[in-house]
Amino acid sequence: TLAEDLMDENVSTIKKDMELKDVAMLMMSDYVTHLPVVNEDNRLLGIVTAWDLSKSIALNCSSLDEIMTKNVITCKSDETIDSISRKMRENDISCLPVVDDDFKIEGIITTDQISHLLSD
Ligand code: SAM
Repeated sequence: TLAEDLMDENVSTIKKDMELKDVAMLMMSDYVTHLPVVNEDNRLLGIVTAWDLSKSIALNCSSLDEIMTKNVITCKSDETIDSISRKMRENDISCLPVVDDDFKIEGIITTDQISHLLSD
C-alpha cells in the first residue's frame, strides 16, 4: 500500500494569518484535528494540530505563528505504508502531509486512514 492509495485528497488547509479562534472553529466544522498551513501557491509552510491549540491555551499564545510546527515531516505519494508508519512512530506524530517535489500539498494521511485500512 502506498501513500497515494491511503491519502485523503480533500485536505482542509489554512493560511498563516488565521486567528486561533477561527482555526479552532474550522477544526470543529471540518471534523479534523490537523491543519496544514499553506501559502498562496498551496506550498506547505507548517502544521497546526489540536495539541498545538491546547498549547496555546496552556501557555497563553495568541498567534498561529507561535504554535504551528514549521519543520514539517512529510511523505511522497509513492511512499509505502511501512515508511509512513515508521515516520509517525519515530516522531510521535499522527499525521503526514503528502507533498510533491515543490512541497505543494497533494493529500494528507492521519492515523484515521491507517485504522480504516486495518479494519477493512
Ligand atoms: N502524539 C500526539 C500526536 O500525534 O498528535 C501529540 C504529540 S506530537 C509531538 C505534537 C506536535 O507534533 C504538535 O506540535 C504538532 O504540530 C506536531 N506535528 C504533527 N504532525 C507533524 C508533522 N507531520 N511534522 C512535524 N510536526 C508535526
